[in-house]
Amino acid sequence: MDFGFTDADEGFRADVRAWLSEHAEAGEDRRSWERALGKAGWIGLGWPEDGYGNRRGTLTQQVAWAEEYARSSAPPRSGHIGENLLAPTLIAHGTDAQKSRFLPAIAAGDELWCQGYSEPGAGSDLAGVRTSAVRDGGDGSYRVTGQKIWTSLAHEADWCFVLARTEVGSRRHRGLSFLLVPMDQPGCVEVRPIRQLTGTSEFNEVFFDGARVRAEHVVGGEG
Ligand SMILES: Cc1cc2nc3c(=O)[nH]c(=O)nc-3n(C[C@H](O)[C@H](O)[C@H](O)COP(=O)(O)OP(=O)(O)OC[C@H]3O[C@@H](n4cnc5c(N)ncnc54)[C@H](O)[C@@H]3O)c2cc1C
Repeated sequence: MDFGFTDADEGFRADVRAWLSEHAEAGEDRRSWERALGKAGWIGLGWPEDGYGNRRGTLTQQVAWAEEYARSSAPPRSGHIGENLLAPTLIAHGTDAQKSRFLPAIAAGDELWCQGYSEPGAGSDLAGVRTSAVRDGGDGSYRVTGQKIWTSLAHEADWCFVLARTEVGSRRHRGLSFLLVPMDQPGCVEVRPIRQLTGTSEFNEVFFDGARVRAEHVVGGEG
């Protein structure tokens, strides 16, 4: 297999470089920057489907994009968790309604995501997850309760994809589900930044106390 760049890749690279040199400014507000990337169609290059406002890029074009991005003065990404972790999961396991609700907003840079997996007692061994999601009310929605930790960019995120136990009394990897939780739930979702040695805070603790999740926002079904 030839991993070299083709002429088409080099043309793509030249377009990326020109766009970044015209638009990227160090220190730009990260949310506005995500929207600028989205408007130009740069979010979702690696998704296996298009039609969500993203353009498709071959593997070598994705490499060219990453190289040019690193060389530019563009700010660090804050939309990469939605773009690279959630979106491919939804494309593989989401319903059509979930894909059409969430993917265009990720591709547009309008909605930022964080990943709620790790807990104080569940790191490398995710089967130790204790956060629970209990069905509550006639509409089939869930209430999520528990603590996550090391949640990168939770303080900027609009949504969190959370691994939680939906089956009471289940053990290990059984009875876990993947839920899409809105972060803007005052009193039910609290984000506490973890101060790093550098003085900055990129990670957080996230506390869920009866946070509401709509029934249709479970990905891949319960369990
Ligand atoms: C840059 C960065 C960003 C992150 N962002 C997120 C995020 O956004 N969301 C999120 O959910 N998490 C995030 N994490 C957390 C990361 O996924 C956890 O660090 C990871 O789950 C490991 O958990 P832990 O730190 O508790 O270590 P532990 O799981 O406690 O592991 C500590 C050590 O024990 C070893 N160990 C663990 N279990 C065993 C075993 N059974 N047998 C032998 N050795 C073992 C490990 O190899 C390791 O050396 C992030 C981490 C980093 C570094």
